[in-house]
Amino acid sequence: MSISLKQLCNIVNEMAPCHLAEEWDNVGLLVGRTEKEVKVVLCALDFSAEVLEQAKKNHADIVITHHPVIFRGIRRLTDGDWRNALLMDAVRNDIAVYSAHTNLDSAVGGVNDVLAGLLELENVEGLNGSEDSVEGIGRIGLLKEPVAFETFVKNVKRVLKLEHVTAVPAGRPVRKVAVCGGSGMDFLDNAVQAGADTYITGDVKYHEAQEALGKNINLIDGTHQATELPVVNEIADRLALRLSREGHSTKVLVAKETLLLQTV
Ligand SMILES: [Zn+2]
Repeated sequence: MSISLKQLCNIVNEMAPCHLAEEWDNVGLLVGRTEKEVKVVLCALDFSAEVLEQAKKNHADIVITHHPVIFRGIRRLTDGDWRNALLMDAVRNDIAVYSAHTNLDSAVGGVNDVLAGLLELENVEGLNGSEDSVEGIGRIGLLKEPVAFETFVKNVKRVLKLEHVTAVPAGRPVRKVAVCGGSGMDFLDNAVQAGADTYITGDVKYHEAQEALGKNINLIDGTHQATELPVVNEIADRLALRLSREGHSTKVLVAKETLLLQTV
């Protein structure tokens, strides 16, 4: 028994509720026919040309991505723009696209919980300072015991599957770690205020690195992509389990995505 697109969207919405998305965001079902039957799901971080190729090759009915396939308003739909050309290709092939973005950052079991889990953080709390809920972008937790910054960096590279990371050592051992997958330098002060000695995020700019050093917090840029990729497997696993438990024969696949920014 397969599942309708509408039913599948409801399940994904339970895993990453759309109401948790930031108000500027664009999440949920962005392309597709709601009554379509779903036999194959492909999970990915981005709706890129390589992901669309894999969707076509595997006869995927829907691609679930983290980054929204439609973000800013579309004023014309032609192949003059590479993103729109991908959208048109998806529609031609009857491939739906669902995106769970900041709602997946915030959700329990989302981007940041997966990161905290990989780093074996304990007593994990939300980074937004809210007492009543762990939900919100970013997490903070404790390592079982303090480790040297160099040791911790090695572990970060291992779990993120990176050969290199960019880091700003502030000269402190690592015990209380804040994480924000993707582009999280806006939350540096939250990490400092929450008492973190180390902050891991992506997309760190030079002057932001200076801020971190000035505020005496170790900073690790694990890259936007590598800090978010781990959640894709997690979502695929949970979705596959849920679908099989409910008696659906729908297959759930994970896309192979190339690291965009490479150290060469
Ligand atoms: Zn992102």
